[in-house]
Amino acid sequence: PRRILSGIQASGALHLGNYLGALKRFTALQDAAPTFVFVADMHAITVWQDPALLTAQTREIAAAYLASGLDPKKTVIFPQSAVRAHADLAWVFNCVARLGWLDRMTQFKEKSGKHKERASVGLYTYPVLQAADILLYKATEVPVGEDQKQHLELTRDIAGKFNNDFGAPGYFPLPEPVIQGPATRIMSLRDGSAKMSKSDPSDQSRINLTDDADAIAAKIKKSKTDMGVMPQVGESLDDRPEVRNLIAIYAALSDQTKDQVTAQFAGQGFGAFKPALADLAVEALAPVTAEMRRLMADPTEIDRVLKDGAERAAEVADPVVAEVKKIVGFWQA
Ligand code: ATP
Ligand code: MG
Repeated sequence: PRRILSGIQASGALHLGNYLGALKRFTALQDAAPTFVFVADMHAITVWQDPALLTAQTREIAAAYLASGLDPKKTVIFPQSAVRAHADLAWVFNCVARLGWLDRMTQFKEKSGKHKERASVGLYTYPVLQAADILLYKATEVPVGEDQKQHLELTRDIAGKFNNDFGAPGYFPLPEPVIQGPATRIMSLRDGSAKMSKSDPSDQSRINLTDDADAIAAKIKKSKTDMGVMPQVGESLDDRPEVRNLIAIYAALSDQTKDQVTAQFAGQGFGAFKPALADLAVEALAPVTAEMRRLMADPTEIDRVLKDGAERAAEVADPVVAEVKKIVGFWQA
């Protein structure tokens, strides 16, 4: 049976990349099959998070799920740490995954930077926890941005090795990443070679879902471009990554192809294109932002959704962990 699962880290302010690459996709999929969407607070603490902020960020992400159209009656929305099974299964998977597999993960290399000896062990083993998040629910489809492709491949490797090592063929399904649409990798507004990220120290690098119209317009106006004008259809943008990125954002926000957007603005200056893009972004985000603000003003509703979601998630996850313990040979009363 099909089962859809995804999550977003409670590691900072949600941005346009999260919205286009993840949130919008979840909402589009939730009617297709049972859907589980969690707030990844355990992943978030792989880099330092202020405890009071972590709680607020967890609620903010839950608010974004609801504001972008996830229906808590259908979709199970929960905080990762509230379902103990995630940590239980992650330990078993830590013993299934190989160091050589994790050594290849590019996200660890990017996030740990020059001083990897100072990175947390959790940051290194993060993709193993992610495999547990997915396989606990025997998810078959995982809607994510392009940056998560490698982690999904690792999840498949872990599932395959577990099934094989313990003589349990097919126990864990091999999940498919769902990486679709024109906005699977939105880049920083300041640097066309870096992904737009919550953890980027520059607030100017991203459009936050909580930015107001003026902030959005100012950030787009100041976004990095080049000395040229808007390209013609068919022109290579390989050496104009910033321009390519802005066109991709425009296309995703207006549900058009990049070629349609290029045709519309071909030859024009950025002085014409940028305000049009800002208007479009404000128009698309304003209702989501307003609903997030409303929900966050009094977290009662959010907390109720998260608590109910945690209970429903545990109903699925706990029996899987019980089975895994048996398969592994852990003593059980
Ligand atoms: P962090 O910097 O803390 O890793 P993040 O911005 O990368 O934060 P995540 O919580 O790691 O966000 O990812 C949540 C989802 O958003 C994932 O599916 C991820 O692939 C997607 N995503 C993140 N950044 C982008 C982006 N720039 N473009 C498209 N999708 C993105
Ligand atoms: Mg990330």
